Amino acid sequence: MKVKDGIIGFIVGDALGVPVEFVSRSILEKTPVVDMNEYGTYHQPKGTWSDDTSMTLATMTSILNKNGIDYIDIMDEFLEWIQKDKYTNSPDGMFDIGFTTHDALLNYHNGASALKSGCEGERDNGNGSLMRILPLAYINSIDYETVENVSSLTHAHKRSKIACVLYVEIAISMLENDFTIAEHVKLACCKIKEYYKGSEELTHFHKIFDNDLKDLNGKGYVIYTFECVIHSLLTTDSYRDAVLKAVNIGGDTDTNAAICGGLAGIYYGYDSIPIDWIDEINRINEVLSLCERYEAFCDES
Ligand SMILES: [Mg+2]
Repeated sequence: MKVKDGIIGFIVGDALGVPVEFVSRSILEKTPVVDMNEYGTYHQPKGTWSDDTSMTLATMTSILNKNGIDYIDIMDEFLEWIQKDKYTNSPDGMFDIGFTTHDALLNYHNGASALKSGCEGERDNGNGSLMRILPLAYINSIDYETVENVSSLTHAHKRSKIACVLYVEIAISMLENDFTIAEHVKLACCKIKEYYKGSEELTHFHKIFDNDLKDLNGKGYVIYTFECVIHSLLTTDSYRDAVLKAVNIGGDTDTNAAICGGLAGIYYGYDSIPIDWIDEINRINEVLSLCERYEAFCDES
């Protein structure tokens, strides 16, 4: 089953990063994360996922319930998450949310239409839409405009939208082709450069396009996140090493490792994800069942 490769890879990466979110790289160099841990930043039990996974599961559930992408329903499910703790596996319920996502959901709650709720300032380019976009890669004949629109629900700036399209394109390449990771990234970058030709926004992606990924910053800016993810994938050769590398860059550890883990899961496969890490994820059976239903939907669509 392909859906669980990426989605469980994503969730395990999220849970690995949660205990050390905001911890700096210099501290993680001295005491690196090597296993699934508990407590830390949010004092959560081992295997707790965060907003990244909650919003990903909300997106999948909405697409299943509506038999396709319904922007209003996706926003309604996001509200279910923040108002009713749906899609969390923490005993505390929802315990974190990004500023831009929060503001966009508030706009929607206050009456803005779904596609007009997202924030579009240059400062609204955190990784908050990139971290929930993976389910779209599994939908046959998904188009760039739809990926952009799903980003726009919360993150409507062009940079965030391009990042989502690039990520989905890399995932699709991994699902369809038998290439190396470097080849997948290169192919997807070529497509994005062609599609957005002439857009000044492309200049922000130049380190990814040129594989110039030495000065990494783990903070939650969408471009920094993308650079950390690609670097982690290109410099390792297993699921485990890729996600641990992403976590140990520090900063927005859960999101960096989740986004990395989604691609690493697709590339290396479900069986490459350490089973003892999967077993630590509370409510994993519900997620596996959701993945199965989502795969059936994607196969039929
Ligand atoms: Mg998070």
